[in-house]
Amino acid sequence: MGAFARDMKDSLTFFVFVATTALCLSFTFSVFVYRLGVLEDPQRFLVANLVVAVCVAIPTATIASQHEFELKRYQRQLESLASTDPLTGLLNRRFFRISAEDEMHRQRRAGGMAAIVLFDLDQFKLVNDQYGHQAGDAILKRIAEIAYSELRGPFDKLGRWGGEEFVVLLSNVNRDQAWLVCDRLRERLERTEIEYNGQMLKVTASFGFEMLTSDASLDRVLETADRALYVSKTTGRNRVTYAGPRLAATA
Ligand code: GH3
Ligand code: MG
Ligand code: MG
Repeated sequence: MGAFARDMKDSLTFFVFVATTALCLSFTFSVFVYRLGVLEDPQRFLVANLVVAVCVAIPTATIASQHEFELKRYQRQLESLASTDPLTGLLNRRFFRISAEDEMHRQRRAGGMAAIVLFDLDQFKLVNDQYGHQAGDAILKRIAEIAYSELRGPFDKLGRWGGEEFVVLLSNVNRDQAWLVCDRLRERLERTEIEYNGQMLKVTASFGFEMLTSDASLDRVLETADRALYVSKTTGRNRVTYAGPRLAATA
């Protein structure tokens, strides 16, 4: 269920709750007055009271549930602002870390392995120098879209690590699968031409990854993945490097 549908359902539940409460209160009050027997025609009073109660309860519940809906929407907007990078809409560094820690908790319960991938655009300074900073921004946005489309929706997490560097958490993968995902994304970026102001621009990226297990230190895994990325950079760029024990030992 999408966020909008969930908010609608919550507001509707809230509406029913407020309306029912108001009606129950009014009904209790009517019965109480009826029991006292102080009125000449208590039955008419009861009916009149219920009609008034409905007229009050429905608008009250409508206003309350509308308010609840707006509040939820506002809360979502704030959450989104706090958790995403404004240029690409991807998770920011802080929220990426939270997602990765959640994944480690999940692994402790359910087992399985994940991979942390860092990828950095190649010679991106040249792109900025040649086509301008705005072209660079447009490329970063497009790269974010492409990477997002290559990953598995809510299971994998994609963030902007900073500048022209991105970070991915591949959930439930082994080393070979992680390598395949990285290489598929690398190839996709290599093949893609990005249109900017009538010009077709191309960029490649270098990748480094390390496996993330539930007992690992996230910082160390990130550091190791960064070393692997550095190896990709120094051995020709536009390639994928798995960190493995050798690089992990030096991290
Ligand atoms: P390498 O292949 O070694 O990664 O080379 P590089 O040129 O990509 O690396 P370097 O770290 O020298 O430069 C990164 C460039 O990325 C410099 C900076 O202008 C650009 N950059 C970082 N963040 C942004 C951004 O938000 N928008 C734009 N347009 N450019 C950015
Ligand atoms: Mg770069
Ligand atoms: Mg960089």
